[in-house]
Amino acid sequence: MRIASTLLFAALLLSLTSAARKRDENRAPRRAPYGQINRAVLLAADRHPQSWLTTGRDFGKGHYSPLNQINTRTVSRLGLAWEYDTHTTRGLEATPIVVDGVLYTTGPVGQVYALLAATGKELWTFDPQINPRVNQRSCCDEVNRGVAVWKGKVYVASFDGQLFALNARTGSVLWKADTIVDKKRGYTSTGAPEVAGHVVVIGNSGAEFDARGYISAYDLDSGELVWRFYTVPGDPSKPYENPELQMAAKTWDPKSNWAMGGGGTVWDAMVYDPELNLLYFGTGNGTFRDQAKRSPSGGDNLFIASIMALDPDTGRMVWHYQEVPADQWDYDVTQPIILTDLKMGGAVRKVLMQASKDGFFYILERRTGRLLSAHAYVPITWASHVDLKTGRPVETPEARSFTDASKPGNLVSPSPMGGHNWDPMSWDPQTGLVYIPEIENGQTSLFSGKAFLRAWNPILGKTVWEAPMSDWWDHAGVLATAGGLVFQGTGTGHFCAYDARTGRKLKDIEVGTTIVAAPMSYAIDGVQYVAVMAAWGGGGWNFLHPQSAFYQRGNQGRILAFKLSGGPVPIPPLLPPVGPIPEPPAQTGSAETIQHGAALFSAHCASCHLNQPGTLAPDLRRMSPETHAAFQQIVLGGIFVREGMPPWDDVLTPSDADAIHDYLISLSWKAYKEQQAASQH
Ligand code: CA
Repeated sequence: MRIASTLLFAALLLSLTSAARKRDENRAPRRAPYGQINRAVLLAADRHPQSWLTTGRDFGKGHYSPLNQINTRTVSRLGLAWEYDTHTTRGLEATPIVVDGVLYTTGPVGQVYALLAATGKELWTFDPQINPRVNQRSCCDEVNRGVAVWKGKVYVASFDGQLFALNARTGSVLWKADTIVDKKRGYTSTGAPEVAGHVVVIGNSGAEFDARGYISAYDLDSGELVWRFYTVPGDPSKPYENPELQMAAKTWDPKSNWAMGGGGTVWDAMVYDPELNLLYFGTGNGTFRDQAKRSPSGGDNLFIASIMALDPDTGRMVWHYQEVPADQWDYDVTQPIILTDLKMGGAVRKVLMQASKDGFFYILERRTGRLLSAHAYVPITWASHVDLKTGRPVETPEARSFTDASKPGNLVSPSPMGGHNWDPMSWDPQTGLVYIPEIENGQTSLFSGKAFLRAWNPILGKTVWEAPMSDWWDHAGVLATAGGLVFQGTGTGHFCAYDARTGRKLKDIEVGTTIVAAPMSYAIDGVQYVAVMAAWGGGGWNFLHPQSAFYQRGNQGRILAFKLSGGPVPIPPLLPPVGPIPEPPAQTGSAETIQHGAALFSAHCASCHLNQPGTLAPDLRRMSPETHAAFQQIVLGGIFVREGMPPWDDVLTPSDADAIHDYLISLSWKAYKEQQAASQH
């Protein structure tokens, strides 16, 4: 009797607990802590494996989870736990952060989503309300690579370069800082802010236009600017903003094209090292890319294409290492940096690792910036090797004749896409391998080649295994876990798990949405989840990839979370086939007007609108009668701002817009007549 009632009581308690849990799952606790990440928590990240504390989980940003419920034996049971619709159609590149049961991540232009990590239920969202004109000069989609969470605040940088501190519980704005020093230049921000000691830092993009690189540091609580560090010298008639520029200026032609800004933008990798109190970041290519135009008499052009270490308390440089002196090939050095301890040469060293765009895998000593190793992880034609004594690359005799990879016979490897780009790699301390989403293209054409998921032994500088992707553009970010697994999404809309030691594919789930972002992992109430953002975007966002999921099924943004014994993933329906080109309106513009429109289109529109069927930026030869009628309102009035089409009324006059329209009507007629002629045969 006693046993029976005890059992009954236990069963009752269990059902009550599970009912309570069910209720709790869908309701955020009111007073519970939100976003409580601090120095002690971050330094002890491995003791909080249920959380994912930075975009790369730990302070070293290894993109590795110590969780192992999902492992080589159980991964066959992986299924969908929940999904969240971001209601966007542009690229999703961020790696979410999970702390105190809440998942924080970003979408296009720096929108923020705070979701209950167990269910995907929305807690709050934030829209930074950007100035859409910033899209007039952006190279690579309006993406964002995530937030920083610290002591109850969520930090995010919007596409137009505003830095926000939000309340982690409510999403309300605590402070906002304008990080852009010159609105006339092509600055945008796409990277995640980084908390470094007492400040939060952020850089920007724009070296493909006329930006001068810098990073800015703000007080965590007040949002006051604490320091700003320029990465390249400015107008020599003005004083140096930071003393390091005196040394940098000696490596530039005094007659450099200073109006172009010089480049060296800090658009992605920033890592704070709480052990050494150093902030590391990578700088982008120089502007112009061609050194003959940028700094005609030569020079290394510090600090473009470099890894730098600053003291975040003062903003002063501690060391710098330029990977690509006098860069000529668009070799940004902004790829993710991973901090770890490695046994090299008989000693355990505090190192940083980077699979650089330039094709070498660099290992530097963190304290000094000393180069420890640089092995080629992809085919390289611009340099034979890096001299470990001087730290300088040894260029091939033909390296400087490779100036334009788009011209056949004048190609360089890696291409301007890089051997590896922004997509996070991961470092697995169990296998001792780095998993690199790498790209091998450029030798025959910029738009061909191959991509691989490469398991790389960083000490030996050797490939252990590689898994081929569908095509050169298919190289999403990577997660490794203590379950002996490597997770990676694909451009063709699959989510895959590989055996970390052998590269054997153990699980392949079709999700029907192109993935470029890196997966991450966390646990709630003893259940391990793997989550990833899904939607195509970033550099080359407007290209045509007929085998991609976005071409076949559209690009509706989703956050997908998986767990063991989860359900099937709903697959978006196929898009209807691209219809015929409709009969365009009558051509009324003169030949001269059409020519003027063509020049304007080439200057302002062609970098997004390729005018091919199936690209994300619409094929303007297929405009409907309604679109033709609304042409001025779209181009000048900004009625498609939400889709990323900025208003151009500050750049183009109504007659300019008409000329562009006339040009597009002429293009449409040409294509329409070809189509009609083809259908006759
Ligand atoms: Ca670049």
